[in-house]
Amino acid sequence: MIYDAAVIGAGPAGITAALYLVRSGVSTALVEDGAAGGQILSTAEIENYPGFPKGIKGWELADLFEAHLSPYPVERIRARIARAEAGAPGKPALLHADDGSVLQAKAVIACTGARHRELGVPGEREFAGRGVSYCAVCDGNFYRGMDVAVVGGGNSALEESLYLARIVRKVYLIHRREAFRGDRIYQDKVRSTENIELVTSCVVEKIAGQSAVETVAVRDVRTGGGRTIPVSGVFLYVGMQPSSGWLPADAVLDAGGFVQTDAEMRTDVPGFFAAGDIRAKHCRQVSSAVGDGAAAATSALSYLEQWHA
Ligand SMILES: Cc1cc2nc3c(=O)[nH]c(=O)nc-3n(C[C@H](O)[C@H](O)[C@H](O)COP(=O)(O)OP(=O)(O)OC[C@H]3O[C@@H](n4cnc5c(N)ncnc54)[C@H](O)[C@@H]3O)c2cc1C
Repeated sequence: MIYDAAVIGAGPAGITAALYLVRSGVSTALVEDGAAGGQILSTAEIENYPGFPKGIKGWELADLFEAHLSPYPVERIRARIARAEAGAPGKPALLHADDGSVLQAKAVIACTGARHRELGVPGEREFAGRGVSYCAVCDGNFYRGMDVAVVGGGNSALEESLYLARIVRKVYLIHRREAFRGDRIYQDKVRSTENIELVTSCVVEKIAGQSAVETVAVRDVRTGGGRTIPVSGVFLYVGMQPSSGWLPADAVLDAGGFVQTDAEMRTDVPGFFAAGDIRAKHCRQVSSAVGDGAAAATSALSYLEQWHA
């Protein structure tokens, strides 16, 4: 079967794009290799999304997105897309999954978002799942009553420090600069939370332990002095890496691997559109992913008109 549109990734951008496409009457496949929801599934509390003035738990919002889409005849496909070949009007794009299956679609919307970036220090890979984590909401409960470190200076690090502070005994928030990048409102909350200690202007040198994490070693970038902090867990929030490697080679990426699009979400590959965190842009939030998804679907619908002309 050749689908009119294939949406790759069922995070906020992909679910929105699929909703707009299917409601416009085009045959739509939504391809996802994990659970629908994307990053919000590993986020304790989603803030800044209009309609939820008190915030909403990530999994609850994912359930609502799913409930909104489920009445519509979208073909849900469980697969990881590994490679794509561009099509053209009259010739569908080919989407190769890592299980060897191939999907054909006239228009493709890339909504594969981003995943955590590694810090790249000794001990990080060795202790992954044994004290090193990238998801406070998934793993925070294992550290109830213990001391943990959070590494990073953006909104994710600040938000997740606040979440962890409610569960653990103490959070050391380690950031390589003096000033945080995250929103003022989170900075203020972090500074007024008693069991969060700020360890600023410090870089992590090593995560160490016997069978699980026991310490994190940091170095002060101003004085060069070192400090070893005893912790049972280290949560890393040092940026995101886009899941863009599967796109055709003609898709233009920025230095960080994020996909360049125009304002209508068109990539440089005809018939390929991109929405959400995978895009080269400044604001990476649920609201902007949802907006991108709607715009990309609208552009894909215009492209499909050329196909059928
Ligand atoms: C800790 C944390 C806290 C956050 N807090 C907030 C907040 O409070 N408010 C807010 O607005 N935003 C918040 N965000 C940001 C928000 O979650 C993202 O901006 C949003 O989820 C991006 O949506 P997306 O659909 O573009 O991508 P994603 O959510 O990344 O979804 C991409 C989906 O694509 C799938 N996928 C990836 N590659 C493939 C492939 N090759 N084949 C098939 N499927 C694939 C993935 O499994 C995933 O389900 C937070 C993010 C984090 C990490």
